[in-house]
Amino acid sequence: MIRFAMLGSGSKGNATLIEHGGTRLLVDCGFNLKETEARLLRLGVEPASLSGILVTHEHSDHLSGVGRLARRHRVPVYMTYGTHRVWQDAEVPALIRFSPHQRFEIGGLAIEPYPVPHDAAEPCQYVIAAGDGAARRRIGILSDAGHISAHMRAVLAGCDALMLECNHDPELLRLGPYPPSLKLRVGGDRGHLSNGQAAALLSGYETARLQHLVLMHLSETNNRPPLALDAIRGALDGDLAGLRCADQAMGLEWAEVV
Ligand SMILES: [Zn+2]
Ligand SMILES: [Zn+2]
Repeated sequence: MIRFAMLGSGSKGNATLIEHGGTRLLVDCGFNLKETEARLLRLGVEPASLSGILVTHEHSDHLSGVGRLARRHRVPVYMTYGTHRVWQDAEVPALIRFSPHQRFEIGGLAIEPYPVPHDAAEPCQYVIAAGDGAARRRIGILSDAGHISAHMRAVLAGCDALMLECNHDPELLRLGPYPPSLKLRVGGDRGHLSNGQAAALLSGYETARLQHLVLMHLSETNNRPPLALDAIRGALDGDLAGLRCADQAMGLEWAEVV
């Protein structure tokens, strides 16, 4: 059994847990140490029990808490060469660097990073899998991407659980308080996925295997959960029992992929 949870999701901090057997990974950590420890304990996880921290990119909502957490609890950190090059806080007990096209394993989990278009040094996202043959289960994560390439579509095909960025509603972004330069950045080709762009990934997506579809990284300024959910429902053939939004404050309770 593989399961996942979130400490929180959004521009004020992201962190996702994935667990299988005795292997427990944190993807990103954009919360300070005290907040991270409290949120981990809320989900029943001792910080020192983490097997590794996988980083997607250097933006502070993903990376700001990684260094202190890794040092305090002696957790190995995994990131791309490019992300490491720009990381200011890189003194950690163990650091493993990789190319975003290079697969590797941590414990019983297969890690498949893939590159994404985002305004960072060498950003990647992940598909994480466990089990063999018919028992193999795949969890896909996609956030912080300005658009969806054919390669990303191919990598994310056939997931059993998908965590998908629905950053903004274009109309709320356009009318909202952000300065013009930031609106261009967020809505641009190397910015963030809109509800409509996320929905476009799902039209034509083979949903037969999909047990969980978690909408993540919603902007508190430029989006609302009902807007994101409506856009996604419109792209799915009917409703999906496992469709829901992750929350900035509460994250996401443990979800099992059976
Ligand atoms: Zn982000
Ligand atoms: Zn980012």
